[in-house]
Amino acid sequence: MQISAEFVTSASGAGDFPRDRLPEVAFVGRSNVGKSSLLNALVRRSVARTSAAPGKTRLANFYRVQRGASPALFLVDLPGYGYARGGDASAREFKGLVEAYFSRASGHGLRASETTDPKARGLEPVAIGVLLLVDSRHPGLDSDMEAWEWLESQPVPHGVIGTKVDKLSRAERTRHAREFETLFDGPVPLVSASTGEGLDELWKMIARLPSQTAA
Ligand code: GDP
Repeated sequence: MQISAEFVTSASGAGDFPRDRLPEVAFVGRSNVGKSSLLNALVRRSVARTSAAPGKTRLANFYRVQRGASPALFLVDLPGYGYARGGDASAREFKGLVEAYFSRASGHGLRASETTDPKARGLEPVAIGVLLLVDSRHPGLDSDMEAWEWLESQPVPHGVIGTKVDKLSRAERTRHAREFETLFDGPVPLVSASTGEGLDELWKMIARLPSQTAA
């Protein structure tokens, strides 16, 4: 399967988001959850910087990706949350950027005055899906569950993926898969950027997500 991927832009706020109306799938998760590694594994090359300094990437990074005959889309690397050393200011910065990002979603309900000419106002709505990445080794972390609750309140289709499944024993896989299913009310695919396990399933999820209606 041919995959093309190119870095498009880094955005620090609403004004910097790309104007192309491609479907988008954004990845969110705690710093160090394996977000950059997973993006690189999906596109089979090193487009995303894997973080030597966790939390330092405070920008939304957009990658234009095309896989086989599927339509092109943006994979978006949103900043990691739960970076203790960043303090309140960085938490606010994170929230501001992510809220600006979400406000572009086509399901977000623009006001009538805005929908007549959204482009003029820089509010062109786009099909957005969000994937929350959680570490397969640690079901139910407070910060992950808070992020999930917040996602559940947003009118944007979303799902959960467990990363680094290669680090689990056989027994842990079964146990954690069950725990995740209970926590997130449905099956949570467990994947590995290191071994490639689960990536085909993840691609299918990515292709479906932006066109789903939010629950
Ligand atoms: P990010 O901060 O979420 O972008 O996380 P990174 O992609 O930088 O990964 C954080 C650390 O986890 C790095 O040391 C990676 O090598 C490691 N890592 C990421 N994905 C995997 C995986 O699938 N398996 C294993 N064993 N380690 C991983």
